[in-house]
This record gives sequence, structure tokens and C-alpha cells, in this order.
Amino acid sequence: MPDDIMLVMRSVVIEEGAFLGLVSSAVEVYGKETAGLLIGKRKGNSYVIKYAITYQSAKRKKTEVEIDEISETRLHQTHNLISRYGRVGDYHSHIDKQESLTKCDRMTLVGDGEGVSLLVIIKKASTGKKWQYNTKDKKLLGSIGREYWISIKAYYYDHIKRKIMKVSIRCPYIRQLNRRSIAQNWVD
Ligand SMILES: [Zn+2]
Repeated sequence: MPDDIMLVMRSVVIEEGAFLGLVSSAVEVYGKETAGLLIGKRKGNSYVIKYAITYQSAKRKKTEVEIDEISETRLHQTHNLISRYGRVGDYHSHIDKQESLTKCDRMTLVGDGEGVSLLVIIKKASTGKKWQYNTKDKKLLGSIGREYWISIKAYYYDHIKRKIMKVSIRCPYIRQLNRRSIAQNWVD
């Protein structure tokens, strides 16, 4: 993504396929972190994220996730061959209390310096919550049944300001999901 280096990113759009990938990947290994690749396209000053693909070979721990470089390269090369979309960034999850990027996450983001980095925070829930976008905190949040609370934040490295910035998120799919949650009676 060399031409994206100077991009001033305004927003990311998380499409249904990507939303499902992010949530299922975080829920599947709840108790440990997960990480993966974001596939999509650039549209003006936004990234449209079509898919979130888990790094299955990543070593998952409670507070960090280690990516195997050889497997990561193999996954990127494969995607370049089979997908009409490109890599637009990465994602990983945090469990329970860690609600923002760690020092190590920030160093990785500055080092990579390309694309968007999504952070998925997952916590155990006892009540159901409708999905909504919190403009002030720039986070997308809601529940999965009454089992988990999930929030999603987006970051990118601004090369001009030399700063990590939070980016606003749009996820049109949450409207459908909220209708579904009401129909299935899991929103309190
Ligand atoms: Zn992290």
C-alpha cells in the first residue's frame, strides 16, 4: 500500500462479512487474544473492510498474540492471488480490562505504518445490549446475546502528524443485527 502512506484516514466501513469474522474470531478463543488480517479496498479517505481473516497459526496468550511471520507472508501472498481486494490492515482482540492499544501495539502500528488497525475488546456480559456507535469515544459496541459485550475501535498512523489517530467507524450491518436481536429477544 505505498500510495496509502500519506492518506488522511477519515473513516472505516465494516461490512457484514468483516463484522462476522471479527466477532466470531474474538468469541471463539475468549480468554485469549486473537489476531488477523483485514481485506478490503480504499474509497476516498475511507477503507471499506470486506473480510477479517484469522491468523490460525498465531500463538494466543491472555495479554498478547504472537504472529508467525512465515505463515503471515504465506497468507498475504495467497490473498493477493485469490482475492480481488487487498490488505487494508490488521486486527486483534483484548480481553476484559485492556480497552486501548498497549505500548507494544502502538509500536507495531508505528512500525508497520500502513492501513488500519482494529481493536476488538471482548468482555463477559450478563445483559443484552443493542449495537450502537459511540461518537465521542469513536467505538462500535453491543452484545452478542447476553454472553459477551464487544466494542470495536479503529486506529491508524498519521505520517504527517506522526501520531496514532482514532478513526470513526460505520457498520451498516448493525441495523439488521439489532432487528434480529429484538426478534430473538436478547436485548434488555
Ligand atoms: Zn493489543
